[in-house]
Amino acid sequence: MARYTGAVCRLCRREGTKLFLKGERCETEKCALSKRAFSPGQHGKMRVKQSDYAVQLREKQKVRRIYGISEHQFRLYFKKADRSEGVTGTILLQLLERRLDSVIFNLGFATSRPQARQIVRHRFVLVNSRPVNIPSYQVKTNDVITIKTDEKKSKFIREMAKLTKDKTIPEWVSVDREKLQGKISRLPERDDIQFPVREQLIVELYSK
Ligand code: SF4
Repeated sequence: MARYTGAVCRLCRREGTKLFLKGERCETEKCALSKRAFSPGQHGKMRVKQSDYAVQLREKQKVRRIYGISEHQFRLYFKKADRSEGVTGTILLQLLERRLDSVIFNLGFATSRPQARQIVRHRFVLVNSRPVNIPSYQVKTNDVITIKTDEKKSKFIREMAKLTKDKTIPEWVSVDREKLQGKISRLPERDDIQFPVREQLIVELYSK
């Protein structure tokens, strides 16, 4: 399935929660969900009792939309998590958090995950001094993420870093905003995931 390119605020309204896909705007009163806190479409305001399946599906869609990945990619992450040793739901979330675009967002070099994805695609990023332009690239412990010294690129990232200066940086990464550099101190753990998610529902959905 192709990547969604429509109005992203609709996705938040559909999931009934802020997915923070528009950076700064999400924190302001301009947020579409604050203004219209109901599902999009003609029957959006109707209250419908959700089946167990619908609850599981919505949880999966929420996570998939937060990370901006296709159904196909998401299933591949799930299969990988399912084959790995440990708690499947936790490993699934770890794999998603370890994506390079997600790391750029976590480091505060982008105001949203979609923007972080663009930053990676446009070759702003070096991993261990090598250029990487693959948003799904999986970071490892001790990887060093740097923004290219290109003046235009580093100026843009400095502006983003200023906008996110109050952001809580997860403990599994460290950042040097002056050098525009981040380091993966350890792999993310369940408690490091910064948004509410019931990953067990996703496991139940895909285990049917
Ligand atoms: Fe979602 Fe941000 Fe749009 Fe609000 S402004 S609806 S949080 S994408």
